[in-house]
Amino acid sequence: MKQYLSLIAAAALSLAACGGESKSTQPTPAAVPSAPAAEAPASQPAASETAGMVSEPVPSSVVESADCSVVVNSDDAMKFDKSEIAIKSSCAQFTITLKHIGKAPVTAMGHNIVIAKASDRAAVVTDGMAAKAEAGYVKANDERVVAHTKMLGGGEEDTITFDTAKLKDGDFEFFCTFPGHVAMMNGKIKLVD
Ligand code: ZN
Repeated sequence: MKQYLSLIAAAALSLAACGGESKSTQPTPAAVPSAPAAEAPASQPAASETAGMVSEPVPSSVVESADCSVVVNSDDAMKFDKSEIAIKSSCAQFTITLKHIGKAPVTAMGHNIVIAKASDRAAVVTDGMAAKAEAGYVKANDERVVAHTKMLGGGEEDTITFDTAKLKDGDFEFFCTFPGHVAMMNGKIKLVD
């Protein structure tokens, strides 16, 4: 019995040896062309330096957010990267994250997002200016304001969530209330089907 087993073992070994041999005859791997290094797009708006000289056509970047949220970037060139935010009416609530991707301090190039009726924009900005920097340039408990972020400096971000039902009646806009910014930093925000 013991011998029989060892015979089998020997046979298995020889089989394994054979198998190993046949495996060792596989073709040498062809020289795999190395994958091209992914070139970073680096498509930063380099034209920002000349902003202010020309009334550049703002690319209408309509954002339809199926997930009921959006990120808006702002920068040292006094710009939002969205000119319109379209909210699916199926979103009961909507979330906006404002990021200041620049480096300037809040005292020099502060940005916020304030949402209000287009017809109230000028008054909201004026009252915000009167409320001064310590109030984030937003009048306290301003009932015309649907929602607003805090005032951000470079590298900061803030997120707000609001009921979309508040946008049902009238034309609404989002804008920055830092003194002098509203003309450059504003866009439409609306409900769409
Ligand atoms: Zn601003």
